[in-house]
Amino acid sequence: MNIEQFKQEVIAYSKEIGIDKIGFTSANMFEELKQRLITQQELGYQSGFEEPDIEKRVTPVKLLPKASSIISIALAYPSKMKNAPKSTREDRRGIFCRASWGQDYHTILRDRLSKLESFLKEKVPDIQVKSMVDTGELSDRAVAERAGIGWSGKNCSIITPEFGSYVYLGEMITNFPFPPDTPMEDQCGSCRKCLDVCPTGALVQGGQLDSTKCIAFLTQTKGFLADEYRTKIGNRIYGCDTCQTVCPVNKGKDFHFHEEMEPDPEIAKPKLKPLLTMSNREFKEKFGHISGAWRGKKPLQRNAILALAHFKDTTALPELIKLMHEDPRPVIRGTAAWAIGKIGGNDVAEELHQAYEKEMDEDVKKEIKKGLAFVEEK
Ligand code: SF4
Ligand code: SF4
Repeated sequence: MNIEQFKQEVIAYSKEIGIDKIGFTSANMFEELKQRLITQQELGYQSGFEEPDIEKRVTPVKLLPKASSIISIALAYPSKMKNAPKSTREDRRGIFCRASWGQDYHTILRDRLSKLESFLKEKVPDIQVKSMVDTGELSDRAVAERAGIGWSGKNCSIITPEFGSYVYLGEMITNFPFPPDTPMEDQCGSCRKCLDVCPTGALVQGGQLDSTKCIAFLTQTKGFLADEYRTKIGNRIYGCDTCQTVCPVNKGKDFHFHEEMEPDPEIAKPKLKPLLTMSNREFKEKFGHISGAWRGKKPLQRNAILALAHFKDTTALPELIKLMHEDPRPVIRGTAAWAIGKIGGNDVAEELHQAYEKEMDEDVKKEIKKGLAFVEEK
């Protein structure tokens, strides 16, 4: 078999099945990444969602013993929503990050990878493959960078010249010796817009991300959000796009190639108040198919409460007061108390005092006290 010719066939097939960019790299160890991960671990910058075994994350042969090459794929996603609904005084809205618009991208990429696998197996029956998207051991970004899909921007995204950083990435390790592509030159140059705009200073020293400070990660945590970040998340319900929207390479990049990625505006930019009282069943029906639902409804509800505080939405007080008194989850009761104090208004001090008297959870009591302190400041 002519290996280069086969590679061209694979590239042509990838276009047919809706893969927007494909690149190839060797299955060698990711040395540079290893060093970066060790430093990240030492500095405590990891989110805790990663595969804990660094060796596995940088050594493809640990995942497929005869690994010879890795295929990296990228699918462009939309950056602009058609008919985006307006947030009004009565009905404030939150926002899901672009990577959570439309159907869960894990499903979409797995579909493309599985089609690619079938094609490879048809042509090379004894080929061995192992595919992954996001939750796999390998770093999608490190693979994409080495396979020439794009360069690794200072905002820690892979930036493609064609689609900007609005791309989903996935990869497939194979035992077939596909010739590697050349990595791309870093094109950030002296730009540092993303570093300057990050609301929490999570982008540190030359393209390192302190995940513990990154809003994208913080919106996915389940406990109380640390006080210093509560006013920083704004109306973000899930994820954060700020360091991408500010990137000059992303200017004007908005691709609508894949029907499944089109956002339903009522889901991607949902009204906040109805989110607070949603049953598990309603939540599953409405949000179950998007990637932003993977941590369940509690973190999203907590973030919706913070967003209502951000808007100082007095129309939400009745719902928030009800949550503070009645919700079985301490994080929701406490965050609601904090938000009630932030929003302020007649009678809220009385409600907070009443809640304090009957509250048994010490953490929630602390939050009620914070709420009362805001009211007293006013
Ligand atoms: Fe900062 Fe948001 Fe980018 Fe995270 S996603 S690094 S918080 S701008
Ligand atoms: Fe690079 Fe500038 Fe984009 Fe940041 S904003 S990723 S520095 S080009």
